[in-house]
Amino acid sequence: MTNSPLTPGLAAARLPADTILAGFANYDPALQPHEAAVAADRCYFCYDAPCVTACPTGIDIPLFIRQIATGTPEAAAETILSSNILGGMCARVCPTETLCEGACVRETAEGKPVEIGRLQRYATDVAMQAPQPFARAAATGKRVAVVGAGPAGLAAAHRLAMLGHDVTIIEARPKPGGLNEFGIAAYKATEQFAAREIDWLLGIGGITLECGKALGRNVTLTDLRDSFDAVFLGIGLGGVNDAGLGPANGVLRDAVDFIAELRQTTDLASLPVGRDVVVIGGGMTAVDAAVQSRLLGAENVTIVYRRGQDRMSASGYEQVHATASGVRIRTNAAPVALHKNGSAAEIEFAYTEDGPAGLQHLAETFRLRADQVLSAIGQRLAVMPDGLVVAGGKLAVTGPGRSALPGVWAGGDCTEAGEDLTVSAVAQGRDAAEDMHIYLMGGENG
Ligand SMILES: Cc1cc2nc3c(=O)[nH]c(=O)nc-3n(C[C@H](O)[C@H](O)[C@H](O)COP(=O)(O)OP(=O)(O)OC[C@H]3O[C@@H](n4cnc5c(N)ncnc54)[C@H](O)[C@@H]3O)c2cc1C
Repeated sequence: MTNSPLTPGLAAARLPADTILAGFANYDPALQPHEAAVAADRCYFCYDAPCVTACPTGIDIPLFIRQIATGTPEAAAETILSSNILGGMCARVCPTETLCEGACVRETAEGKPVEIGRLQRYATDVAMQAPQPFARAAATGKRVAVVGAGPAGLAAAHRLAMLGHDVTIIEARPKPGGLNEFGIAAYKATEQFAAREIDWLLGIGGITLECGKALGRNVTLTDLRDSFDAVFLGIGLGGVNDAGLGPANGVLRDAVDFIAELRQTTDLASLPVGRDVVVIGGGMTAVDAAVQSRLLGAENVTIVYRRGQDRMSASGYEQVHATASGVRIRTNAAPVALHKNGSAAEIEFAYTEDGPAGLQHLAETFRLRADQVLSAIGQRLAVMPDGLVVAGGKLAVTGPGRSALPGVWAGGDCTEAGEDLTVSAVAQGRDAAEDMHIYLMGGENG
């Protein structure tokens, strides 16, 4: 598969720059204070609230909504951020329809939940106007290495720093943020939000960030274990699964790379995009790649998923968002070949049937015109540090992120417990940090 940013034959984005910018900016506007007051007023402040249980970071949602209702958004933000230090980003990217809002009593009763995600964004936006409200505990003299500055690593680093440990983050890329910076759809996190949130988070002090340094390339796990009192691995997934279509012919591209390029460009109008784009996959990455292709001006964008629509991991809300953006979704079809003749390309799919024997390819096939094919069929571990155990292609962990090696923890997408959600990575980083603290202070196995 080619990762070349400029697929030969593709034109730069096909819409005027102003139209593109407007499309990327208008996804989910922030609530104004009076709108926040009205939205907060709809909360029943349930005892044993199901929304709290549905949130992987367990934010006390009724409390923060009450704090907004009483006109103290700073207090609301502190409630949110004490459970989820990346609460600002999560407010923008969480699939709330399957988490807190999906569990909201008003959703069950009336089909219209309290707008928890937008309220969380309202409060955290207020908080980010000021320095963060958290302070470091007295220094413990312990040093911890965190590998990877994605949501899992950042959440672990912040909690460890708060508990008084000195943290060094080693990040392979030139910039921190992980998929918050390089993966999340550009229309969900506008105005450099990921970078601003990290600056704010690092304001706690006690965290040294070393970008451009990779585990496996510049340093080994043994080096880190020798130099630090404990290590947290939050390396995410990097390797791309093979679509099995043979030579890419300049047409096929990894959707995550396409999105990363889009996130890093300062000039969206210069990005090349196909006229006929086909996206293979059924998850959030597929939807994001497809919707953003449309926003750049692709005329025909089709997501093709190998199973039925109910099996797509993109939520119903995201599927509707895709179709409302002009993306066609075709299901029960798997790619079998790419055909290229000069500048014309087609991708051939076999119809599939999902039965007791698993997924069957049927003999009948169809073709779609495609001058760009984006593959969004999942990622795998790119680095396998020595001495660790793998389960289901990811790092095996027990309890709150303990790996097979003493003094080494892991969390987020790279582990078998990873759920491919920002908020789950934050929860796992935070919980591993709490467990590491017990170990570092001479508690269990320490
Ligand atoms: C295209 C796309 C869109 C998504 N959209 C959403 C969404 O809308 N909502 C949502 O909740 N989730 C979304 N997700 C999932 C979410 O982004 C991830 O679950 C989350 O980022 C995982 O966090 P992490 O810290 O485990 O890994 P990552 O975010 O991948 O961060 C890992 C970090 O480790 C670094 N690293 C890797 N290897 C090394 C090494 N050897 N040495 C040093 N550093 C290393 C990487 O450079 C990276 O910075 C999306 C994912 C993708 C791919």
